[in-house]
Amino acid sequence: MKLFVTEEGLVEGARFIGSPNCDERPAGCAIELIVIHSISLPPGEFGGAGIIELFTNRLNPVAHPYYATTADLKVSAHFLIRRDGELVQFVPCAKRAWHAGESSWRGRGRCNDFSIGVELEGDERVPFTDAQYERLAALTRALEARYPIADIAGHSDVAPGRKSDPGPQFDWARYRAMLKISRQGAKAAKETKKTKLSPRRTQRTRRKTKAK
Ligand SMILES: [Zn+2]
Repeated sequence: MKLFVTEEGLVEGARFIGSPNCDERPAGCAIELIVIHSISLPPGEFGGAGIIELFTNRLNPVAHPYYATTADLKVSAHFLIRRDGELVQFVPCAKRAWHAGESSWRGRGRCNDFSIGVELEGDERVPFTDAQYERLAALTRALEARYPIADIAGHSDVAPGRKSDPGPQFDWARYRAMLKISRQGAKAAKETKKTKLSPRRTQRTRRKTKAK
């Protein structure tokens, strides 16, 4: 599904749950980086309300032993992609979400200033789902259409030694191949849609994807 980012930085079709954990980006600061994260709360459990509660400061510290240390964190991300591909938005892209923490990318610190944070519901044991890759690729395309995105990095890339997400289960090659195909332009995207009708083209597309 194609996604669209409005001028205020809201994604049409996303479920919006506002987080208070955000503020203004520095004046004139362009959005140039996407930071990919992974999260599960409680750790290793999927589908619960924990992530949403964390990002909206409603995590009950006694609901799970892990929450005792987590509940008072003031954190957020712009987006969460759940296991079934559902897209949740917590912070408009125009605002600064608090996801990267102490961080640096290509020698430039404070990544929150110039980045968009995308959380994938998952952990370091279980592969991410097809629905998550599809939604992430669609979201990336939509963000690239709105902002001068120059780079995509993992949280572990911008905070090495301190953070390990999205972790070894995140298939960067697969994600980049999906983006590469979509970047071939609107015409190519239309053709890709037609692959269902054209076995020859389907094969070619598959081979291309595999080769990456
Ligand atoms: Zn992270």
